[in-house]
Amino acid sequence: MAKRWSTPAAESLRVGPGFDFAAFDTAATPGWEGSRKKAESLTAENGEEMSELQERLYAHGRTGGTRSVLLVLQGMDTSGKGGIVRHVMGMVDPQGVQLKSFGKPTPEELSHHYLWRIRNALPVPGRIGVFDRSHYEDVLVVRVNELVPPDVWEPRYEEINAFERELVDAGTVVIKAAMLISKDEQAARLRERLERPDKHWKYNPGDIDEREKWDAYQEAYQAVFDRTSTEHAPWYAIPADNKWFARLAVAELVLESLEGLDLDWPAADFDPAAELARLERS
Ligand code: AMP
Ligand code: MG
Repeated sequence: MAKRWSTPAAESLRVGPGFDFAAFDTAATPGWEGSRKKAESLTAENGEEMSELQERLYAHGRTGGTRSVLLVLQGMDTSGKGGIVRHVMGMVDPQGVQLKSFGKPTPEELSHHYLWRIRNALPVPGRIGVFDRSHYEDVLVVRVNELVPPDVWEPRYEEINAFERELVDAGTVVIKAAMLISKDEQAARLRERLERPDKHWKYNPGDIDEREKWDAYQEAYQAVFDRTSTEHAPWYAIPADNKWFARLAVAELVLESLEGLDLDWPAADFDPAAELARLERS
């Protein structure tokens, strides 16, 4: 067997009712029975298939189609969101990918509803949108740091569910990937950023401030899983201590979604035989 998933990634990683983040093994490789080497070669293979299906999606978008894909990446600092962008989405034609990173809101963004900047960055039909952080920050960092009072963040879970319902109804497949690492793994990755001059640019002293609130973040993530892993836009819990597994898993989820769109090449709006004849005469 070329592939070594014992269970499809969408099934083994999906956050269902009763998901317990505190008991989650961030070093596991659920559903995967192959070696690391096998995983790396399958990730590359998936990239080629993704690329081909993405081109079909793009063609569909160019001919009036409405479908798009949105990959939402959430996770603590160093969880490997950037690595997914580089190593997984990097395998697809950049013309087909719409990447947006969400940092601390600008004064202009803050003057609008928190979904305003999100709506502005949604993928147009035919594209794969990738969010490096997302509207979920508005119930994660915002909740943990009490940037707004509870009566403001509390209704956001339902509002986010309704927002995502709207996206799905308009033709977007929403894949929400939570990159989950252990506190020890984060320490190792932050240490590396501090010890290597070529990694200093990735380090932010504020990362330690957030790390010190690890338990509060765990709680806030648990609430996100409990309240926003819906039928129409489920969360996938990606064990991310092993970067090779996280990359394989996300590539697999994106590929499965593209396959699920089941798109054909669009029919020509001209007569190819007649055009060929014209070409021959020209
Ligand atoms: P990075 O992804 O490492 O470049 O960091 C971006 C920073 O922006 C993180 O510390 C996020 O928590 C923060 N951030 C993103 N969205 C929001 C938001 N809505 N409110 C406050 N901080 C945010
Ligand atoms: Mg950071």
